[in-house]
Amino acid sequence: MTWSHWEITPFITSVFFILGVLTLFWVSQNWIINFFNTHHWRVDQSLITDWYGLIYMMLFVFGMQTAVVGQNDAWIFMNFQLIGLTFCGYFLNVRVRYYYLYPLVFIFMGFNHSLYYWESWGHAVTLILFFTALGRLRKHVPLQTKQGQVTLYLVTCAGFGAVLWWFMKLKFNLSWATYWQEWTYLLVFASLLYIYASMLSANAHLKQNLVAFANHDALTKIENFAAYKTAINYQVTSSRKNGSQLTMLMFDIDHFKQVNDTYGHLAGDKILQHVAQVATIVFHANNPQISLYRTGGEEFNVIFPNYDLTEALAVAEQLFAAINHIAVPVNDHQIQLSISIGLSELAADDQSPTAFYQRVDANLYHSKKHGRMQITAK
Ligand code: GH3
Ligand code: MG
Ligand code: MG
Repeated sequence: MTWSHWEITPFITSVFFILGVLTLFWVSQNWIINFFNTHHWRVDQSLITDWYGLIYMMLFVFGMQTAVVGQNDAWIFMNFQLIGLTFCGYFLNVRVRYYYLYPLVFIFMGFNHSLYYWESWGHAVTLILFFTALGRLRKHVPLQTKQGQVTLYLVTCAGFGAVLWWFMKLKFNLSWATYWQEWTYLLVFASLLYIYASMLSANAHLKQNLVAFANHDALTKIENFAAYKTAINYQVTSSRKNGSQLTMLMFDIDHFKQVNDTYGHLAGDKILQHVAQVATIVFHANNPQISLYRTGGEEFNVIFPNYDLTEALAVAEQLFAAINHIAVPVNDHQIQLSISIGLSELAADDQSPTAFYQRVDANLYHSKKHGRMQITAK
């Protein structure tokens, strides 16, 4: 085997080609997700995955077809295209709706000079039905066993594949031998896709879970001190670079030890969960960029990117009102809570995120020292 003389069969080459295309997708998708995370852009990850997947597969399908458009063998990449479609329809179909495929199929037909062939129209309609079936199969068919899921997936690919190749057999006068060979290859590729995609996504899930576990607090499910440290360092740097405002808030539940002593630790835990939930709702309703962290036992930190002190104070007052005037039902008791708050804005002469933190902490201490259940902002 040399560079000019390639002895590997097209089938084997195809297998590795498909694996390569999928690997490149996974690697680049991870890179994009990491890019969003390091810039602290809070975007739903599956939204990125789905849309990137669709664009990637479109480039793949259109890119390959360019080589054979209008030729007698314009069908030779069809199995690759079907694998691209299956990947989007079955493995990515969470948010990308099937009807987004309609315009794409027609654009592809125009691009492929096939708008005047009835077989191509039959093929296009079957393709849309195939994509819809894959999405529905994945989302709506409740299957107890993995085998059941795989079987239904393969049966769907085999059935639609047979019809799709039949249209191509008519259009290009393919022999039955070619027809069955391509259909068999499709099933082999679809099986490989299933195995490879399952392996990669299991790995990705594991990684995602580990990252989530390391950055979240097990009790309240909000982000923890480690996540806070990363975020504050990033926000301080970015605020200095862009000249944008940055405000931080800390709050602490008043006399929480008494609550534990009176009602028990489990009641205390429920209160912590409740406080985290209320605070999340208040901040999210204002601006999803405001982030909440449980930085200590009953202490929470909140980062307000692009907020000055006055703007953040308005949100702090909402939190203050929401927590101080709601009794938390725990077992048979209605427990009345209060919190003390400190907040401050990043100053030009803050030497480090720690200096900023210390000022906010001092403001919280001021609220505690002067009677609790109050806000200190300066
Ligand atoms: P202050 O108004 O000065 O803040 O008084 P405090 O009693 O809230 O403050 P202190 O720091 O003395 O007590 C905090 C208590 O929070 C002590 C600890 O038992 C409790 N605590 C810390 N983490 C947890 C937790 O995860 N669950 C429960 N139930 N209690 C916790
Ligand atoms: Mg306290
Ligand atoms: Mg405390």
